[in-house]
Amino acid sequence: MTGARLILGKDVSESIYSELRVRIQALKNNGTTPGLAVVLVGDDPASQVYVRMKGKMCEELGMRSLTITLPPSATQEELLAKIGELNRDPGIHGFLVQLPLPGHMDEEEVINAIDPRKDVDCFHPSNVGRMLIGNPDFLPATPAGVQQMLIRSGIDTSGRHVVVVGRSNIVGKPMAAMMLQKGKGADSTVTVVHSRTKDLPSATRQADILIVAIGKPKFITADMVKDGAVVIDVGTNRVDDPSSPKGSRLVGDVDFDAVREKASAISPVPGGVGPMTICMLMANTVAAAEMAAEVIR
Ligand code: NDP
Repeated sequence: MTGARLILGKDVSESIYSELRVRIQALKNNGTTPGLAVVLVGDDPASQVYVRMKGKMCEELGMRSLTITLPPSATQEELLAKIGELNRDPGIHGFLVQLPLPGHMDEEEVINAIDPRKDVDCFHPSNVGRMLIGNPDFLPATPAGVQQMLIRSGIDTSGRHVVVVGRSNIVGKPMAAMMLQKGKGADSTVTVVHSRTKDLPSATRQADILIVAIGKPKFITADMVKDGAVVIDVGTNRVDDPSSPKGSRLVGDVDFDAVREKASAISPVPGGVGPMTICMLMANTVAAAEMAAEVIR
């Protein structure tokens, strides 16, 4: 075998952005410019990069972008007051608070304070519940991105065995819940494995579609993958690489070169799931603006 077909988030996101541009223009024609706000507390460099990328993408799409930066010393009350303002601001259709928050803040209280209709990260318990019962306003960005990669690459998920490695609230759990729903890009038989799973390789070898989100470089080796499986690697790990000018490079949770020889389709890192998260955040913001403008879709 010469190697699996590549599933590239860049290509998939480009097709979604083209569709979003049409919807954004339709909203603008009716007097609504979709607006996304991002609240950043503190000065974590990685968070600053993510926040800048989100703002830049809003501008590229012709959406309104607002970044609110609070100092690391900001209090919980100051942050909650800012969330209250954004909940009431009619020009902001969606917003998120960039995580992680400084240690003195209560993340759960912060998420609960966001108006669910503006919760474009889909972290509010009401949106998580709606997703679980199959009646969502929004889907969480990273798992939604993975699902779009599968759908738009023509990969049939119905009746296929999907094994999700990892059970975090932002990737593994919602991913499993979404693949379990009825409908397009879902209808799968789902297994979730994690650090307490006994004999994890025997579970991953059962997967027709293997979705990995654990944060351990090259954890999934070729012997853990069934011949012809579809492999989606959500993991993003920075490892030392003296041969690179930066001294480091990004790798996924999957041993890409070896697994590519066995899989039928695989997403690389970087270039795979990465671009999808911001793309689906933009899609959620457009959907929030359409909800606010009562556009029937
Ligand atoms: P978390 O650290 O929150 O969760 C990791 C999960 O992996 C946990 O459920 C943990 O199990 C499980 N796990 C850890 N080690 C093992 C192991 N040895 N065997 C089996 N399971 C294990 O991570 P996230 O879900 O937030 O992120 C996972 C990866 O995806 C990271 O590399 C992150 O950077 C990346 N990511 C990429 C995004 C993108 O846009 N491309 C977006 C979000 C995340 P347990 O619960 O038992 O501890």
